Amino acid sequence: MAHGTFATQINCMDGRTQEPALKWIKEKFGVDYVDNITEPGPDKILAQGIQPNLDSIKARAMISVYKHGSRNIVIVSHHDCAGNPVCKKEHADMVHKAVEVVRSWGLPASVQSVWIDRNWHVKEI
Ligand SMILES: [Zn+2]
Repeated sequence: MAHGTFATQINCMDGRTQEPALKWIKEKFGVDYVDNITEPGPDKILAQGIQPNLDSIKARAMISVYKHGSRNIVIVSHHDCAGNPVCKKEHADMVHKAVEVVRSWGLPASVQSVWIDRNWHVKEI
C-alpha cells in the first residue's frame, strides 16, 4: 500500500477546475493526496456510458481505490465546460447519474458529486 492517504477525483481536463477541486477534497476528507482522473466532461461520459473513456475511468478508479487505498471518490461537474457544453440543470442531472454509475461498480469507497461555479467555488451537488 502507498504511503499517505488518498482520495480520488474524476474531474474535467479543464485546468481551471483542478486547484479548487484538489483543495476542497483535501480539506473535506483530510487526505494527503488526491488521485486525478481527468476527461473532457466526465459527467457526460459516465452518465451516457461513452466508451472507451468509461472503461478507462473505471480502471483508473480501481487503481486509486485498491492500490492507494482511496475511500472517497468525488465526481466534478463545472461551469463553462467545453467537453460538455450544457446548462447547469443538465450538468446536475448527468453528474447525479454519474454518481449512480460509479456506485454500481461496487468499489469500497464513498461516491459523491460537486459543482464548480463561475467563480470557481466548489459546492456539493
Ligand atoms: Zn469541462
